[in-house]
Amino acid sequence: MTDGERGAQDVAASFAERKHENYIDGTWVAPSSGTSIPVVDPGRGAAIGTIAASGVEDVDRAVAAARTNFEAGAWRSLPSARRSEVLWAIGEGIAAAADELVELESLDNGMPVKAARGHVANAVQCFRYFAGLADKIFGHSSQIQSAGRQVLGYTVKEPIGVVGLIVPWNAPLRQTVYKVAPALAAGCSIVLKPAEETSLTALRLAEIVTAAGVPAGTFNVVTGEGEPVGSRLTEHPDVDKVSFTGSTSVGRAIIRAAAGNLKKLTLELGGKSPLVLFDDADLEKAIPHAAMSIFGNAGQVCSAASRLIVHGSIHDEVVQRIAAFGDGLRLGYRTEDVQLGPLISQVQLDRVTGYVDGAVEAGAEIVGGDLPTPDEGFFYRPIVVTGVQPKMTVYREEIFGPVLSALPFDDVDEAVALANDTRYGLAASVFTGDVGRAHSVASRLRAGRVGINVHGITDFTMPGGGYKESGWGRENGPDAVDPYLEVKSVFTLLG
Ligand code: NAD
Repeated sequence: MTDGERGAQDVAASFAERKHENYIDGTWVAPSSGTSIPVVDPGRGAAIGTIAASGVEDVDRAVAAARTNFEAGAWRSLPSARRSEVLWAIGEGIAAAADELVELESLDNGMPVKAARGHVANAVQCFRYFAGLADKIFGHSSQIQSAGRQVLGYTVKEPIGVVGLIVPWNAPLRQTVYKVAPALAAGCSIVLKPAEETSLTALRLAEIVTAAGVPAGTFNVVTGEGEPVGSRLTEHPDVDKVSFTGSTSVGRAIIRAAAGNLKKLTLELGGKSPLVLFDDADLEKAIPHAAMSIFGNAGQVCSAASRLIVHGSIHDEVVQRIAAFGDGLRLGYRTEDVQLGPLISQVQLDRVTGYVDGAVEAGAEIVGGDLPTPDEGFFYRPIVVTGVQPKMTVYREEIFGPVLSALPFDDVDEAVALANDTRYGLAASVFTGDVGRAHSVASRLRAGRVGINVHGITDFTMPGGGYKESGWGRENGPDAVDPYLEVKSVFTLLG
C-alpha cells in the first residue's frame, strides 16, 4: 500500500467516525430525535461511526429549506451557463477527493477498492456530462393560425420544483450522482435520502457540492430509515417529484404515498435478469463474463445476470466452468488484489442464505462455493444453483447475492420464453456467434437494457430503466434532465 493510499484510508476512517448529522440549508443539523444509527463496516461487521436517525420533523425541515430556496430562485434563476460551471466544479471537487471517496465507499459498502475507484471516476464524468446539458435545455416555437388570428407559441422548460431523491445501498455514490446531477442541471432544489446502510459518500458529497458553489438550501441530505424518512418524503405535499432507486416492493409503497399530491415519479426498481447463452458463443469470453455478471459486487447489482439460460448441449460444462471461476475469486474488500466483497449486512447475509436453503429444500443442487471466506464480515461464497424449475423462488425472486440459477433450453423460442418469464424487465443479454440471431433475440427480450455478447453495461450517457415491474421512466442519457422539468406552452397574438 502506498503512503497516499494509507493517507486516504485515514482520512476516510476519520470522516466515518464523525457523529454525522443532517445537512439542511447549508449547515449540519442534529436530528430532532437526538438518536443515531450505527455505520457498520460490512467487511468486519464492526461499527465505525454513526449517522442521524431522522424523523418526520427533520424531513419537513429539509423540505421547507428546499422550498424556500426554490421559490427564492437561488439556484433555478441562475443563468444556465452558471449552473453548468457549478456542475463542472462539483465534478472537479469529486476528482480532488477521489482517493478519500474510494476508501469511504469501500469502507461503508464493502465493495472492493477497484470497483469503488470506477464508481468515483464515473461520478466525476457524470457531473461533467450534465454540466454540458445544463445550458442546453431548449424549447421550440410554432406560428399558429387560431380563429383567424396569427399566434406565436413557444415552449419553456422549467425546473419541476423540490425533488426527493431516494437511493439504495448497492452502489451508493453512483446511484446518488445519477439523480443529483440531472436534478441540479434542471434547476431543482433537492432533499436527498441515502440508504441507511451507506450514507457516508452522500454526506461527503454535501461538502463538495457546497464548496463548488451550490447555494445553501438547494442540496439537503436527511439520513435515516426508509420509514419514516423515505416515506415522509414521498407523501410530503410540498415535494413535487420523487426519483427512487430501490426494490419493487418499496416502489409500490411510493406510488401509493405519492398519490396525495400526484407527485411525479421516476422508479428504478429490481430485476431478475436473464443471460441467454447459445452453443455457438465464444465460451472463453462468455464464461468469465457471465460469472462476473452475477458474482461482481457480490451479486448486489440491480441488473445482475442472475438467471443463466444456457443451451442444453453445453449446460453442464458451462455450469462447472462458471462455478470454478467463482471458486478462483479472491474475497476481500480493502486491498487492490481482491475481486469479491462482502454482502452489505447480516440481514442480507441471512436473506441470501435463506433463498439458497429454500432452493435446496425444493430439490435444487449447489455447484461451487468451495473457497475460503474471511472469518469476519458478511461474506457469501459465489455459487451456481442447478436443477432449477422456473416456478422455484430462487429463479423468480431477486436475491441480491452471488447466486446464479441455471436452466437449460433446446431451441431459440424456448430460450426467449424462459428469459421473458419474469415480472421484471431491467436488463437482459444474449451470447451467440450468429449476428443475425443476436439481433433477433435482442429484439424479443423485454428489458430496458439488452446486451449482445456483453451484460449489464450502465452509463450516464445511455438511458436505463425497466420494463414491467422494474420501474417507471428512464434515468441517464441525453434526455435525463427532462423528468426534472415541466414544459410550459406560451402563446401571444402577433400583430
Ligand atoms: P430498498 O427498496 O429496501 O431501499 C431503497 C431506499 O428506499 C433506501 O434508501 C430505503 O431507506 C428507502 N425506503 C425504504 N422503505 C421506504 C419507504 N416506505 N418509502 C420511501 N423510501 C423507503 O432497496 P435496497 O435493499 O436498499 O436496494 C436493493 C434494491 O434496489 C434491489 O431491489 C435492486 O434491484 C434495486 N436497485 C435498482 C436499480 C435500478 O437502476 N433499477 C439500481 C440499484 C438497485
